[in-house]
Amino acid sequence: MIKLSSPFYSNEECEAVCRVLNSQVACMGEETMLFEQELSSFLQTNVLCVSSGTAALQLALQSIDIQPGDNILVPSFTFVATFQAIKALNAIPIPCDIDIQTCFLDRNDVEKRINKKTKAILPVLYAGIDIGISEIYNLAHTYNLHVIEDAAHSFGNLQITKRKGILCFSFDAIKNLSCTDGGAIACQDKNILERIQDARLLGIIGDTECRYKNQRSWDFDVQSQGWRYHMSNLCAAIGRTQLRKFSKLADNRKKIANLYLNELKNIPEIRLLPIDTNISVPHIFPIIINNNKRNELRNFLLQNNIGCGVQYKPNHLLTYFNLNYSLPNTEWIYDHILSIPLHPLLTEQEVEFIIEKIKQFFKVHQTIYHTLDR
Ligand SMILES: *Cc1c(COP(=O)(O)O)cnc(C)c1O
Repeated sequence: MIKLSSPFYSNEECEAVCRVLNSQVACMGEETMLFEQELSSFLQTNVLCVSSGTAALQLALQSIDIQPGDNILVPSFTFVATFQAIKALNAIPIPCDIDIQTCFLDRNDVEKRINKKTKAILPVLYAGIDIGISEIYNLAHTYNLHVIEDAAHSFGNLQITKRKGILCFSFDAIKNLSCTDGGAIACQDKNILERIQDARLLGIIGDTECRYKNQRSWDFDVQSQGWRYHMSNLCAAIGRTQLRKFSKLADNRKKIANLYLNELKNIPEIRLLPIDTNISVPHIFPIIINNNKRNELRNFLLQNNIGCGVQYKPNHLLTYFNLNYSLPNTEWIYDHILSIPLHPLLTEQEVEFIIEKIKQFFKVHQTIYHTLDR
């Protein structure tokens, strides 16, 4: 089976893991500090590492003082982690619709859901796409709202960290950069990160500074809610290794995405998302199937041992988040989208095989154009 997604670990990661285990200091310590420093210079902003992308989102919300009952405007079309991070603070995720061309938050749908309880907009850079982000920042400015970006798909895009919102990255097992588990909060405003650097360590005041020296505080105070969301030396050491070879990981992903973009663009039944490999490092490669053959294509690819999947089930369709309204663009996309394999271990032959199978499928399932539903 050709895998839909995969990390790319090799001997260097194994050596990093052994180095940390042999040091007997696997918990958060100096490696974590060094990884944060290296990420800061790579991303040209301030960075704090945490245990997951979900934890990054929750702590980012805490840093802007989100309270129970506050409304957060968020696209329904995202991984459930985005919604659960909001719920973790007892705030209310308000699912919004997306633009059907870009799968990015629809500014007009967002605006109509703003009310007295709205505190922040949480755009998701789905497949690394951020077309429309400046309109979201303008809207936030007009209504005096915070912006937190779910940039879990966007590590490697060096333009996004220049923006003034708070960015949340994920370094989980399959993301562009993988620590096996991990995440980071990046922000130009140092004060934001200062406010939460102890919150990730159970709220223990000054523990971050101790941990950086591979020490711990014993006589400490706690004055606010904290969580066990720090990143271990072990995960940080893997992340540091991945960061050193990141340009190779990024090039592999871009090369594969460019092959797909060039080879699939002439299939009339397929619409490609505006993925720009000049600025972003694509994490996933979703395609839109314009006719009603998405499920058949999925089965056909699986029969040919090609991994594929629907990313993601819209959150407003999940029982826990249902607000009893429909989001037409999101629901249409959910019925017509399919992610095909994208990861740095794919060979060119595998990519060519995938492209050939997709072309073969649509030769059999050609559409008569006036029946296209979009
Ligand atoms: C992966 C992901 C997350 C969560 O990251 P974790 O590190 O798995 O907690 C959040 N949002 C999106 C869009 C993701 O893809």
